Amino acid sequence: MIGWTPGSPGGPGLDAAASSTPQCSRASCTEPASFNVNWRNPRIHGIERVKVWTACDTHVDYLRDYLSSRSFPVEVTPLGVTVDRVGSP
Ligand SMILES: [Zn+2]
Repeated sequence: MIGWTPGSPGGPGLDAAASSTPQCSRASCTEPASFNVNWRNPRIHGIERVKVWTACDTHVDYLRDYLSSRSFPVEVTPLGVTVDRVGSP
């Protein structure tokens, strides 16, 4: 078994990428992620809390704008790079 059937969307290449690389967090996007989008909702999360989305090249700006437009602190880092905190108290 090689994990895909002929005619399935994506084929073996995408399946291999999906299993080793996080996928973009944008709804319905299946691209492999290139960035971490670190953010926090100050109304419900303490300063030590960091939520992480992953984003592809296409959607990193969309996701950052989505969060910043809600006045959430957001910091974009390369995929796999984490931060201790986002924003200030
Ligand atoms: Zn995407």
